[in-house]
Amino acid sequence: MLFIRNNIWLAFYVFLLAGFASFIFILTKTHESIRQDVQLEQENLTRITSNSVEASLRQYETLLDILGQELLHEAKFLDRDKAIQEIDKLLNASHTTHNLFLIDLDGNIVATNSLSQDKRESSLNLLQNPKAKESFSLTLDSNAAVIGRTYFSYWESALIIPIRKTIRNRDGQPLFVVSLTINIEKGLPFFSKNVEHSADYSVFIYRERDRYFQVAPKRLINDPAVYEHQFSEERIQESIDYVEKAYNTSFEVIKDKQIITTHVTGKFNDDSQSMMSNFYIKEFQLWVGIERDTQVIRKKFFQVAANLSLVFFFAYAVIFWLFRVISNNEKKKEELLTYRATHDFLTNLPNRYFLDNYFSKLEEQDSYHLLFVDMDNFKSANDNFGHDYGDQVLIEITRRLKLSIQKSECLIARYSGDEFVVAAFNLSSFEAERLAQTILEEISKPYLMSGNRLSISASIGISHCPTDASSFEEVKRLSDFALYEAKQNKNCYAIFHEELKKRYLDDQSLENKLRDAIKNDEISVVFQPQISSAGVLSGFESLVRWYSEELGSIPPNRFIPIAEYSGLMPELGRHIIRKSLDEASKVAPDSFSLSINVSIKQFFSDGFVEYFLQQANQSKIAKSRLKIEITESLFIQDLDYVLGMINQFKAEGISVSLDDFGTGYSSLSLLKDLPIDELKIDKSFVDDIVEDKDARLLLQGIINIAHKMGITIIAEGVETQEQKQILDGLGCEVFQGYYFYKPMPINDVIKEFN
Ligand code: C2E
Ligand code: CA
Ligand code: CA
Repeated sequence: MLFIRNNIWLAFYVFLLAGFASFIFILTKTHESIRQDVQLEQENLTRITSNSVEASLRQYETLLDILGQELLHEAKFLDRDKAIQEIDKLLNASHTTHNLFLIDLDGNIVATNSLSQDKRESSLNLLQNPKAKESFSLTLDSNAAVIGRTYFSYWESALIIPIRKTIRNRDGQPLFVVSLTINIEKGLPFFSKNVEHSADYSVFIYRERDRYFQVAPKRLINDPAVYEHQFSEERIQESIDYVEKAYNTSFEVIKDKQIITTHVTGKFNDDSQSMMSNFYIKEFQLWVGIERDTQVIRKKFFQVAANLSLVFFFAYAVIFWLFRVISNNEKKKEELLTYRATHDFLTNLPNRYFLDNYFSKLEEQDSYHLLFVDMDNFKSANDNFGHDYGDQVLIEITRRLKLSIQKSECLIARYSGDEFVVAAFNLSSFEAERLAQTILEEISKPYLMSGNRLSISASIGISHCPTDASSFEEVKRLSDFALYEAKQNKNCYAIFHEELKKRYLDDQSLENKLRDAIKNDEISVVFQPQISSAGVLSGFESLVRWYSEELGSIPPNRFIPIAEYSGLMPELGRHIIRKSLDEASKVAPDSFSLSINVSIKQFFSDGFVEYFLQQANQSKIAKSRLKIEITESLFIQDLDYVLGMINQFKAEGISVSLDDFGTGYSSLSLLKDLPIDELKIDKSFVDDIVEDKDARLLLQGIINIAHKMGITIIAEGVETQEQKQILDGLGCEVFQGYYFYKPMPINDVIKEFN
């Protein structure tokens, strides 16, 4: 079934071929059956006609017998007048229109019916007439009636068949001959009744003995010349051979048993083919034949064939139509499937698969800008209002993207969750930038749906083919990299340039080196002391360091993002946890806290909580002294999930510190929902605090709220005494910064604090 569905037209042609084969078969059978019908009909007619000819001839013979007896009686045959009288009497009684003759043994006509007396050529002598001579002699020798050759009689002006009989005395001595001349036209009325009127049959009678026509076929019947023509012996022999073979019996048997034979042969005196049936009248040694043009079979056959063809044609028209309906359905289904496979279900935009496929077919010289459009904070749509709302927002984003492109020749695709790709063809870089700006403006307009209001923004990375790269794969990578750049600031676009490429390649090489760095133990940690307002050591923050033989010191701000981007962060993170706990435990225990930075990528990696707790349990440092430093970007993710993990730490007595507070989307409302123990005021805030009164006021507010919730405040990046004093005044409890200590290796810590 599946095969047929896939090869629907092949199936149709096979079907058509099979149909055509059976059609031909049916036609062949039909032709044969028509031929048989025609043959049967013709043979029946042959039988009727032959019987009728035979009966007539017998009747004529009887007439001759009667005349003979009458003329014998009282030897009337010797008296011409009496003979005429007898003849007339007999003709009257038998209602025959033919002529009767009394002929003496020398061939002289003695008497005939009175009506024809004067027309008669009395001089005719049958023994001297070349045509009559043979049959008359035969008559004299025979006891039976003998049929003479057909001839044209001038005085009757008609074709005549004579039938003669010799009358003998008791001793068998011939006395005279009686003769009857049959006018073909009038004397063989059975022809006209039965056969001659039915248009395409032709009856003929010919003589076995000397192969002359007795009655020629219809089209030649009135041509006297035909009756002078003897059939060629060869042609007759040919027919005999053929019939003997076809009927599988000898010609003698066919004649003796009077079997009707039929065969197809060329017509006499004509090129066309005919079907000929023959019957042998033994008694008179005559063949009765009926021939019919084979065209009849063809005509009948073509009639049936035409009807059959019509039926066949209509049947196939219907079947063709059906197949077309099926094929169209299949095609539609296939198109739908292809559409589904290449389009996003939600937004109906082409998907990533479509995009890859589309660009793999483009010519290399095609010019297009590829814009990677990534939502900055789309997660909040799903988290705050549910996934249905998120879906609505995506549809709305799609609408706005379409709106933004206006008349430019663009292809918009949904690349992944909240990432869209706009391929803009034949734009100048200025136009491409304007397009990006329009998209940013459109996307950042508020989303007012189902009574909710949401603001989101997008970042866009742009690169150009063929300026930046010639393959789609490469262009995609460069756009993605520009996007990465744009993401640093968000709600902006970045255009790929060589500088980026350089950084990109640097990042690539750095990434490779970082891989080896972990293995080669080039990664270490340092500790920065945290001091209480009373000037006592409160704890340490461990900070990662990478010293490469080749590159020297690489700052964490450079390699941490690379580790996150490349998937190395979980491994690096485990390394940092292990090292921090290990080294910090060399300092006298229980007198300080230890803060370990945890990246978001690390936080969400598999088995993170388990690993941390396992290491913490093995460490000499009490868990109640451990802190994890997280950033608020963590809470843009699935909040319930994050809270679940945080609570696992808290349940073990590990504290949570919110790092870099005052940079991101920091909102005070967040504090209420989060189970944090410590708030870490970012260095940027601390930097402003001396100059900026507003910053001081804001900070005062934050600290007050935090204190109400039992959250400790720590300020980082404290570089001056002035900063320390102001923060102290605002209620800040712990300080970290170069004013006190720089981050230091564990050996320095030991020297300083043990
Ligand atoms: P952070 O977590 O905010 O770390 C504080 C950064 O401020 C450290 O830089 C520290 O050396 C620097 N700092 C401390 N006091 C002062 C000061 O008075 N003045 C100035 N100008 N800087 C000060 P560092 O070690 O270069 O680390 C930079 C960032 O790299 C960190 O910011 C943190 O985001 C990340 N990082 C460092 N170590 C780790 C780590 O072990 N794990 C993770 N996930 N991230 C780390
Ligand atoms: Ca930190
Ligand atoms: Ca920080």
